[in-house]
Amino acid sequence: MSAVALAALIVERQPCVVLTGAGVSTESGIPDFRSPTGIWAEVDPFEVASIQAFRRDPARVWRFYSQRIDLLRSAEPNAAHVALADLERRGLVEAVVTQNIDTLHTRAGSRDVVEVHGSIRSAQCLGCLWTEPAEGVLVQLEENDVPSCPRCGEVLKPGVVMFGELLPADAMERATRLARGAGLLLVVGSSLEVWPVAGLPLEARSFAIVNRGPTALDDEAELKVDAGAGETLSAVLEALGDG
Ligand SMILES: [Zn+2]
Repeated sequence: MSAVALAALIVERQPCVVLTGAGVSTESGIPDFRSPTGIWAEVDPFEVASIQAFRRDPARVWRFYSQRIDLLRSAEPNAAHVALADLERRGLVEAVVTQNIDTLHTRAGSRDVVEVHGSIRSAQCLGCLWTEPAEGVLVQLEENDVPSCPRCGEVLKPGVVMFGELLPADAMERATRLARGAGLLLVVGSSLEVWPVAGLPLEARSFAIVNRGPTALDDEAELKVDAGAGETLSAVLEALGDG
């Protein structure tokens, strides 16, 4: 029933912009961060994923990220990623704003993806701001603890936003513009705990949430579906029929 109601909202409240978090990728075998079985239950993010830790001990941070990159690159898009790409092709989703760094939306076929926390697609030089593709980084990591810039020799940093860093201004501006223009902002797989992204739904004319478990904005949502992303979005497509 709720998937039918959600499908109707998506059609009625165009344009629809989607905001995704870790919950959209857990069905691809990628652990989330904040649940009891999440990554931050195992390791302290300030030791392995903060800019302070990176400046102190880049080798330790790269050990953590090289494992993450291996896992994320071997993961496959799931039914939720595929459904969102399908909705975009049908003209029912304008863009996907994602907190995920795994690139699975793009690999599933979504064309307009705004990665507000960066991605594993590349690493960045802290000296000259050169962007090095992941392939080059992985080759270097086979030999060295810390990859370096092919242009100036400085240390390369994973192309993801770390704790203690600001979000990329251009991506965040685009995300905010999209949210403000949205008739419906559809949150999928985010508990809306991480600011400033968690504030985006409040910028839209209305918003709906698909998430297992409570979120910070459940009470204000037009519709809340407490279920998995894959099953819910597949049911939405089914409710929409062939189109
Ligand atoms: Zn450089």
